[in-house]
Amino acid sequence: MREYVSGLFLIVDSRKYTDDIAFIGISPFEGQQTIISKGGNRENSRRGKALDIGNALKAKLYKRHHYYLTEADIVESFSFLKSDLTTIVLFQILLAVLRHTYYLPERKFFFSVFQSLLELDQSRDLERAELGVFLIIMKILNYYDILEFPLTCQVCHKNIYHGSFDYLGFSCDEHATNNTGTSFSLFTNEQRVAFLETILRDLLGITITFNPELPFSSTKKHAH
Ligand SMILES: [Zn+2]
Repeated sequence: MREYVSGLFLIVDSRKYTDDIAFIGISPFEGQQTIISKGGNRENSRRGKALDIGNALKAKLYKRHHYYLTEADIVESFSFLKSDLTTIVLFQILLAVLRHTYYLPERKFFFSVFQSLLELDQSRDLERAELGVFLIIMKILNYYDILEFPLTCQVCHKNIYHGSFDYLGFSCDEHATNNTGTSFSLFTNEQRVAFLETILRDLLGITITFNPELPFSSTKKHAH
């Protein structure tokens, strides 16, 4: 017997095969699922065209061993967030973090992230979008207890936006132990991206591959 499911899905990864596309979608009701679009990679497939990474879909699926896509309409493609290299990179990091962390449906949290992304996309304000996506990533890392944000010095407990960190934790400049930690700063986009790359690699084993031509490809170094 076929079991049908429909709802909102955010695409966090997608792979093309000869005829088909398999993608990973996160739904506030179904959690994270691998979904197959039979024939989605054929040239005339309307469904297939909706399956870019970072798109949000209203989708209808049926379950039989796997989830299969039967209908897909793009709800949001976050085109503004995908129009600038810095926001592309940050958006890509956000999807990688979601993919890595989001195993159980947490509806309220999903909708709060989704709503924030919509607002940033609609703001058409680049600076706000860049900082905003970074803050959403920090919020997710904080939500899943991967990193406390704002970062605090482990000695004086002050909030810090630059300083250094090692396996013991974060330190302000004054309390940094001599040359053993990695220094960081969160004041510019380049520094934020560099910080996230290091943190994700060290704490979650995620390595992000940035490719402006095919902006949303990521690889994970180790599996669970
Ligand atoms: Zn301190």
